[in-house]
Amino acid sequence: MPHENHPGLIYCRAPRSAVFLGGSQLKLKQLLFAVLLLGIVSGAWVLQGYMSIESARRDVLMMDTFVSVLADGRQAEKVLDDAIVEMQRLEALLSAHVEGSDVYRINQARGEQVSVSTETIEVLLVAEEAFRQTNGAFDVTLGAVLKLWGFGTDDRRVPSAAELLEVLAGVGFANVEFSREGQWVRLKHPGTRLDFGGVAKGYIVDRAAEFIASRGIRHAVVDAGGDVRIVGGRPNIPRWRGARPARVGVQDPTNRANLIAVVSVMDAAVLTSGDYERYFVEDGMRYSHIIDPRTGRPVQGLSSVTIVTSKAAVADALATAVMVLGQEAGMSLIESLDGVEALLITAEQELIMSSGMAALTEILR
Ligand code: ADP
Ligand code: MG
Repeated sequence: MPHENHPGLIYCRAPRSAVFLGGSQLKLKQLLFAVLLLGIVSGAWVLQGYMSIESARRDVLMMDTFVSVLADGRQAEKVLDDAIVEMQRLEALLSAHVEGSDVYRINQARGEQVSVSTETIEVLLVAEEAFRQTNGAFDVTLGAVLKLWGFGTDDRRVPSAAELLEVLAGVGFANVEFSREGQWVRLKHPGTRLDFGGVAKGYIVDRAAEFIASRGIRHAVVDAGGDVRIVGGRPNIPRWRGARPARVGVQDPTNRANLIAVVSVMDAAVLTSGDYERYFVEDGMRYSHIIDPRTGRPVQGLSSVTIVTSKAAVADALATAVMVLGQEAGMSLIESLDGVEALLITAEQELIMSSGMAALTEILR
């Protein structure tokens, strides 16, 4: 109400009046004090709740790439530390190159049954499904072929046709026998070697995202060198703005400093396979680390494949498979699958999108 001595000042405390006081002065004072105290206590409680909603970020080198994890939520710092430890544990379990890992032991077992963890069985189930869906374009039994080309080692080289023919004899998912209930794996052909390089990163990203969500975090991003899964929406935005889609960049294969497109999603995986990340050059030829299981030779054709679907493990396997299948067969596979979208960049740097992809994608050129 207007103050009598400061007519210009509109809001000021009302003069004490009989209207307000009514009963005993003392009782009112006590009541006011109690209300004030209650206000302070509940205010502090709400504030404390708000303050414990942290925004946290971790950047670590693992799985041969830069991994960034971001989260908004209660105890975000602690949750991310635990998530990183979990990812490191899974990497040690699933890498063919880590001595003592499940995959390493399977590859060394000379046809014997090997007891493995649930996680290895889960990856094999994704791999088996992908092998079936892609008519063998995605195949985790390429281990011996990859070794022959020297991928995963320092000395990469082009093998002879005869060498390739020999190792191709052990390629094919039919050479893998495994039991979900018994939790064991056995390789039937003496030349078969497993390599989870085309699916493990996605699987580990999924596990980290699911771990983070299980700890009550609502918005998070797990990004393993561009293999991304979003929990909820974009982290690190003020709460009052509500949930917003996270924006995931797709690199320009000819200049990785540039983005060619941005994909906006919530609760989904966005994952890219490309021939520009890991390859070697010999006699002017470029050899990508993605192998066509039919020939044992690196694929040629597409520059990159970006897949959007709910699970990063599935996206990882499909991205690798579409690189093998090429534009036409690859795109018809994607169109045949529910809840899967793709953005292909051809060797000529042409962008090709599946039917539902344009709605998620902003092209930046
Ligand atoms: P990145 O690891 O760069 O994200 P990918 O997801 O495409 O790339 O995985 C490539 C890896 O997958 C290779 O390094 C190799 O370990 C494995 N791989 C290569 N070709 C195939 C294939 N046809 N099927 C399954 N795995 C493959
Ligand atoms: Mg892959």
